[in-house]
Amino acid sequence: NLKKVLMSACLLGKKVRYDGGSLSVHDQLVERWVSEGRIVSVCPEVEAGMSIPRKPAEIVQGNGNTVLDGETDVIEKGGNVVTDDFIAGASIALELCKKFNIEIAVLAESSPSCGSSFIYDGSFSGNRTPGIGVTVALLRRHGIQVFSQHEIKDADKAIHAGPG
Ligand code: SF4
Repeated sequence: NLKKVLMSACLLGKKVRYDGGSLSVHDQLVERWVSEGRIVSVCPEVEAGMSIPRKPAEIVQGNGNTVLDGETDVIEKGGNVVTDDFIAGASIALELCKKFNIEIAVLAESSPSCGSSFIYDGSFSGNRTPGIGVTVALLRRHGIQVFSQHEIKDADKAIHAGPG
């Protein structure tokens, strides 16, 4: 039973970011995961129906957990509230994890969806702050280990811990 890994589509070279670009990771471990058939790719924001390109969005005065708890919102630059889209995207990512029995994810750092250690602070001024995105918050609530593209080795260790 091969352990699969959920991975941000932008890290796999897909041009799904808000600016129409990708964040391709070039790493032998990731290449091995691909050849082993472990990767399940997802872009929560695009899965939720958001366009490419789209306006940048940030969580205002909170993090993925406060968004899930209905305490704070995700706002696009300009003020449009997109909280529901971000929660929908997180739910789709969680469904994929359930479908493929996924317990490990590697997601793109600092995104309001995918950030696992940092997010932007909601002021649209380029300031990063410790925090997690909406998808990461939902996955962690369901026991899924989430790593960033800077922690590929740790993710690989998690894949090879125990059977599979
Ligand atoms: Fe990448 Fe996640 Fe942003 Fe999609 S939502 S572009 S997968 S960081």
